[in-house]
Amino acid sequence: MHNNTCLACGMPLNDKSDFGMKNEQGSFCKHCITPDQKVKSCEEIFNGGVQFFMTAIPGTEKNFAERIVRKNMNNLPYWKKNKSLCLKGAIATDKEFQEILSKLG
Ligand SMILES: [Zn+2]
Repeated sequence: MHNNTCLACGMPLNDKSDFGMKNEQGSFCKHCITPDQKVKSCEEIFNGGVQFFMTAIPGTEKNFAERIVRKNMNNLPYWKKNKSLCLKGAIATDKEFQEILSKLG
């Protein structure tokens, strides 16, 4: 399970407690699956990511968090394969993305 990241949100799966499930496409974290072991919808994972950034970095505006999450998810193989309308819209620049990641520590 080392060097593994969640296909749908990019979260590192360093620990067994981060892990949700594995299917033919790869591994998913516990945040990205439903109680009956299905991958959540794009909207659910997107909104969860927006909430995560707004909580993790106080003062983050919703519109900015949305652009960050859209950039992150659009780069993930799972969403390249499973295109969703929910990821259409403005995305953060590389610089903004690096800055917010550095704030997460
Ligand atoms: Zn995930």
